[in-house]
Amino acid sequence: MAGSAVVGALACQVDSYLRSFETTVVSCRPIEIVHPSKPAKKSKLPAQSSDDIQESYEVELKDTILFPEGGGQPSDHGVIVTPESELPVLAIRRALLTALHKVPKPIEPNTAVKLEIDWRRRFDHMQQHSGQHLISAILDQLAVPTLAWSLGEKVSYVELPRKLTDEEVIEVENRCNDVIREGIDIWVEVPDKSLVNKDKLPDDYDAERGILRVVHIGNLDANPCCGTHLKNTREMGSIALLHQLPIRGSNSRLHFLIGDRVRAYARELNNLTRVLNSRLSCQTEEIEAKISRLDSQLRDSLKREKLWRADVVKSDAARIKEELKQDKKSYVYRADGAGLDYFNSLVAEIGHLEASSGVLVLASGAGKNGGALLVIGEGADRVASSLVGDGIIKSLKGGGKGAKWQGKISQWEKGEVEMLRDFFDRLEI
Ligand SMILES: [Zn+2]
Repeated sequence: MAGSAVVGALACQVDSYLRSFETTVVSCRPIEIVHPSKPAKKSKLPAQSSDDIQESYEVELKDTILFPEGGGQPSDHGVIVTPESELPVLAIRRALLTALHKVPKPIEPNTAVKLEIDWRRRFDHMQQHSGQHLISAILDQLAVPTLAWSLGEKVSYVELPRKLTDEEVIEVENRCNDVIREGIDIWVEVPDKSLVNKDKLPDDYDAERGILRVVHIGNLDANPCCGTHLKNTREMGSIALLHQLPIRGSNSRLHFLIGDRVRAYARELNNLTRVLNSRLSCQTEEIEAKISRLDSQLRDSLKREKLWRADVVKSDAARIKEELKQDKKSYVYRADGAGLDYFNSLVAEIGHLEASSGVLVLASGAGKNGGALLVIGEGADRVASSLVGDGIIKSLKGGGKGAKWQGKISQWEKGEVEMLRDFFDRLEI
């Protein structure tokens, strides 16, 4: 529409510090709702009713202080105030050279409106985005190019072709914070288009009719960018470089925080440290040693448990063999969570049960934690099915055939252990 500002020269890009703004509506169109095609017969997704899809509209304004998504920076949040109402804007997208504001209700063209921005959120984006330019400029000095970047909800990152050494990370962080303290001006230049590197422009951006901007950090850096930026490096406050994560072969993501996010992170870490202090009953300096100690204690007790379990399995197996020889049946119940692991070692220790050896019933667990049940020997499935049929353990579910039946008990109800014992005592082989 003739007369409306193009992306590249929107009010938010000309002056990134505008918090409210008066303008007029150029156009407003409903966003077409794409109805989901009929779900396939076997689809597990519930059919979407038309009530689930909220109607929404896209509004083009004569100009805007709300930044549309671009250059790695998410779109702003804000409101459009009309004479009748206040409409929230949570998404603005660029369509060719136009910024389209998503709103829940239509606004008549030519309506005079007032825009207000979620300034805290925007200033945070300006800190992260200008800071990313600075980090990338310092990395360029070390001949480490930035391949991509992402502005995250809490933490952002630059993607680099290799992992930095710990010394390099400290070096980059120090240099960045030196530049912040120097208070270097950040400014936008709109040079002759032939001089601008167009490699990073989105494919659908009309470079002929649009505006190409270069963001400068003093003499340190010049970068084509559409984003909203700070006026001076001092406004970044400080930069903290965090962990690196390997990605796509030998690439590395270097995570960072800038400005107010550094404080928020410090607060979060402090809270976590206090939880650790209290849970581990120790001072912060002792946390690492304490965890190592707990870790080695855990290994020792697991080792001990393994030895003890082997002893228990041996003696239980000997008793079971004896009972099978005498009575043709044997029964083991363990209230602890030994479960199937224990039973399997027991069965391995007993060895192959002869068809004539009788029946072995193994049960474990207690109360709400549930447990396991294993029936082994001649007619195991028959024994199990009468156990299930009598409804002795209500939550028992399982299966098997011939000489082995195994099941899970999701919950032992009151009296069921005794009833199982009773069932076993009455069992005739
Ligand atoms: Zn940028």
